[in-house]
Amino acid sequence: MKVIKGISVGRCICPLYDPKDIGKTDFAHAHSPEEGYRGWICVESRAVLRNKAIMLHELAHIIANAGHNDKWRRCVIRLGGTLGSVSFGKFIVPSYRKGADRKQWA
Ligand SMILES: [Zn+2]
Ligand SMILES: [Zn+2]
Repeated sequence: MKVIKGISVGRCICPLYDPKDIGKTDFAHAHSPEEGYRGWICVESRAVLRNKAIMLHELAHIIANAGHNDKWRRCVIRLGGTLGSVSFGKFIVPSYRKGADRKQWA
């Protein structure tokens, strides 16, 4: 897919991020244009790449070029993803449905 510039596994592509954060507070995120590295998705491990719901969530950030707003929500749905919570190993990704109690997650 052309919109994806690259995928970084195990550490964040951006030197401004603390590499230790990935896997601790964050196991996947997409980069916005303001940060540079637009089109990059960083994941904690290869296992994340196999989680379709998480990858579609991140892909939607890149395609919609947006945070967790309505534009992004429409994009997630169009791609066949979900706004509901997703379990990933010991993590539970919170729901991003409108009005849901949102915790920090990229
Ligand atoms: Zn990153
Ligand atoms: Zn997100």
